[in-house]
Amino acid sequence: MVQRSRSRGTGPTRRNGSAASAAHSDREAVFERALAASNQSLLEWNVASDRVTVGACFWTQIGRPDAGPSLALPDFLELVSPDDRATLAELLRRSAAYTGDVPADVATSMRLATPQGDVREFTVALSRPCLQIGDARIVAGVVGDATEALRLKRELVEARNLAETANRTKSEFVATISHEIRTPINGILGMTGLLLDTTLNAEQLDFARTVQESGQALMEIVTDILDFSKVEAGKLELEQIPFDLPDVISGAVRITEPRATAKGLMLKWEPDERLPKTMSGDPGRLRQVLLNLISNAIKFTERGHVEVRARLLQKKNHVARIRFEIEDTGIGISEAARPKLFQKFSQVDSTIARRYGGTGLGLAVCKSLVDLMAGDIGVDSTLGQGSTFWFEVALPDAKAVPERAQPTDAPRHAGAPVLVVDDNTVNSRLLVALLARMGHTADVVDTGWKAVDAARHGNYGLVLMDVQLPGLDGYEAAAAIRALSGRRGDVPIVAVTADAGERDRERYRHSAINDFVLKPVDARELGTVVRRWAGATVEREEPPVAQAPPQPGDEIIDRSVVSTLAARIGAAKTGELVDLYVTDLRDRIGRVRDAVAARDINTLRREAHDLRSTSGSLGLTRLFAVGEAIQAAALEGNETVAFAAAAKVEDISHQTIAALLAADPRRLG
Ligand code: ADP
Repeated sequence: MVQRSRSRGTGPTRRNGSAASAAHSDREAVFERALAASNQSLLEWNVASDRVTVGACFWTQIGRPDAGPSLALPDFLELVSPDDRATLAELLRRSAAYTGDVPADVATSMRLATPQGDVREFTVALSRPCLQIGDARIVAGVVGDATEALRLKRELVEARNLAETANRTKSEFVATISHEIRTPINGILGMTGLLLDTTLNAEQLDFARTVQESGQALMEIVTDILDFSKVEAGKLELEQIPFDLPDVISGAVRITEPRATAKGLMLKWEPDERLPKTMSGDPGRLRQVLLNLISNAIKFTERGHVEVRARLLQKKNHVARIRFEIEDTGIGISEAARPKLFQKFSQVDSTIARRYGGTGLGLAVCKSLVDLMAGDIGVDSTLGQGSTFWFEVALPDAKAVPERAQPTDAPRHAGAPVLVVDDNTVNSRLLVALLARMGHTADVVDTGWKAVDAARHGNYGLVLMDVQLPGLDGYEAAAAIRALSGRRGDVPIVAVTADAGERDRERYRHSAINDFVLKPVDARELGTVVRRWAGATVEREEPPVAQAPPQPGDEIIDRSVVSTLAARIGAAKTGELVDLYVTDLRDRIGRVRDAVAARDINTLRREAHDLRSTSGSLGLTRLFAVGEAIQAAALEGNETVAFAAAAKVEDISHQTIAALLAADPRRLG
């Protein structure tokens, strides 16, 4: 039971009833009233008598108007929550012991339970040094009820965290969806490209060109959305590689020039001699910002010119600050519209949007990219006369960053054979067939050790390396190849992998691997990468692909993948691959069944990984999906889901084999 000791008066301190004290007491009453107006009360602890006195407001707040105003310290501490008791006692003790002359106030918080059962939280601010009043040493302070304020603050923090999480989740979702959308658009563009290479009459040519242009426009929008959501989800990472700055600017100017010329505009760019040449950074992203700003300038200008300028502002400790300016003589932007310009989905007005199209994302992406480069972006403009968009970024010169082999060094071994490293026969045969089509011969090995051995003795122009290999994995094999002496250690190594998340990319960047191609392998992408590293290859004209009418089984097999493959490597080769795949799959069914029975998640994950990549290469949609589902569940540690999905492999495999046999690609040719 709390012992109470009551004294007379209204203020927390009460002394003898002298006239002076009475006046003092009145002053206290005034203070106390004033403090109570902000939910605070005076607190004092008389060290000698060990009594704590607190103003009436406090006692009301803790639902004990009859307790206090003065209690023995141990009784007062009894009221405080056990969690905060020791801290408060310690703070009081230290405040009493403080001997310094310099004021050194301290604060803490304490929770107290009311008799009604709520918990209230108070801030306690103690003033140091303590007061010497006559013989008494007094530790004085203010106690305030902060329950509501703290609750609000916590709710705000929670709400902010929630909003941030929701926003990140949304961005991740958009990033995933955009990625999924790009795949079929790539299909449309690729196929339209092939179609345009065939003999078409004027009307068909016009239709096909429209499909291509619309596809390209759609792709641009999706790419913007993807970039933007990647930045928002914190998933966009910049490269740090050496590049030639004037080259990047000239490249962007060259790409946009035809559009300027078509509108009768002059596109000017004079490289400034003082501009540093070899810098380090992300040339792709820098080009993207330039392209966006130059394209906008051309888009919004009807007559006159667009001028691109770049100059060195400052150079310090190997870091150059560069200012880029893109000036146009176009429609200009009103002062009112300027602040919103770099926000997403913002266009100056809807008439402009209707007339010129666009999504209002371009400048937002530019801003995000420039922000990532720790730079600034802005615009100066006069309505009706033109705009100058500018941005400034800091770029280290290339010497400040360790160098890596660059595609610009390639081709070093043009014409030399390619070494294909893959333990899966379907994958390696497919790669060999595609390489042959590009005019490259290839050798195949199926382990990392054999790859190192082959690289030591052979004279390869390029290594295509599966990353997931038993024993020595792709990274280790690549590192061992790099350690070989002479030219053999310099051979470009391209990973062929199903893993291309940011973390994987980061890993490639820091490994001996120069580049990567995604599995399932896309012939065009492979072509680009092989050309980049191994030099010129024969690009044969693609035979047109007959679009088969829909048939049963379409949801199991994406027949366009098989027919595109057949068009590229021939129906016979595709047929062989399919046979090989079916044999491989029959063995795999048994292994998956065993892994499920033994609850062996590691084997299952490996099988799913292979199932996914081989099925993807042949357009076996349903098996690909189940492989992916197993792999994703296994990676997340969700074994129940992984095993449940694995149990479906057998059935789906049989359906797929039946559908494959029905659609034998040898009959497509
Ligand atoms: P959009 O895809 O709509 O072009 P942006 O973010 O690139 O999206 O541009 C947003 C808006 O800013 C445009 O719709 C246009 O109104 C205005 N704008 C951008 N660049 C220029 C320019 N060079 N001159 C005039 N207006 C411009």
